Amino acid sequence: MDILKERIKSDGVAVGTEILKVDSFLNHRIDVRLFEEIGAEFRRRFSDVADKTDKILTVEASGIAVAAFVSRYFGYPPAVFAKKEMPNTMDEDYYFSEIMSFTKMKMSSIRIAKKYLRAGERVLIIDDFLAHGQAALGLVNLVAQAGAEILGVGIVIEKSFQGGGRKLRAKGLRVESLAIVEKVEDGNILFAP
Ligand code: 5GP
Repeated sequence: MDILKERIKSDGVAVGTEILKVDSFLNHRIDVRLFEEIGAEFRRRFSDVADKTDKILTVEASGIAVAAFVSRYFGYPPAVFAKKEMPNTMDEDYYFSEIMSFTKMKMSSIRIAKKYLRAGERVLIIDDFLAHGQAALGLVNLVAQAGAEILGVGIVIEKSFQGGGRKLRAKGLRVESLAIVEKVEDGNILFAP
């Protein structure tokens, strides 16, 4: 997706060789017009399954806005986000998965109330970044626990050098990434062709 790559090049900041900071349009301030384009692009890429998507699934926080725009372009299926903390209000039964955050260097857990993810539902997983694949694999695990079906995984920015995409594809999952970063070096962000 060229406009996304251009935006990453112009506004993205490389932090060392591992992290990409895109707070100005994706993770802190949201460029709503760009999010519209992102929603439309996911619709094009998953056009064969868009009409049978029952649910868009993501994880808080930055995935939520992306998932909401994807829902809009998929005919408004509900967007459900896994929670990272256990809120007092979450007294229902839930599915639970442990994940490692390499950006924060700590284990955390994600959970979804069972009533929001049902057996047989067809789910599209969406997230802002794919790095080591922990967040996405955690969501895949929650879907498996529910007995639901994954139609695909849609990612805004994949960092291919961290291997998450490889792990997901090796599981036979269909992964569509709108921008694939191959390397972050000397402040330069290099994309896959
Ligand atoms: P993974 O679980 O695939 O290792 O990492 C994915 C999650 O970590 C994403 O949901 C995202 O929140 C965060 N993340 C990983 N790498 C980056 C990065 O380079 N920049 C930002 N802003 N977030 C990242």
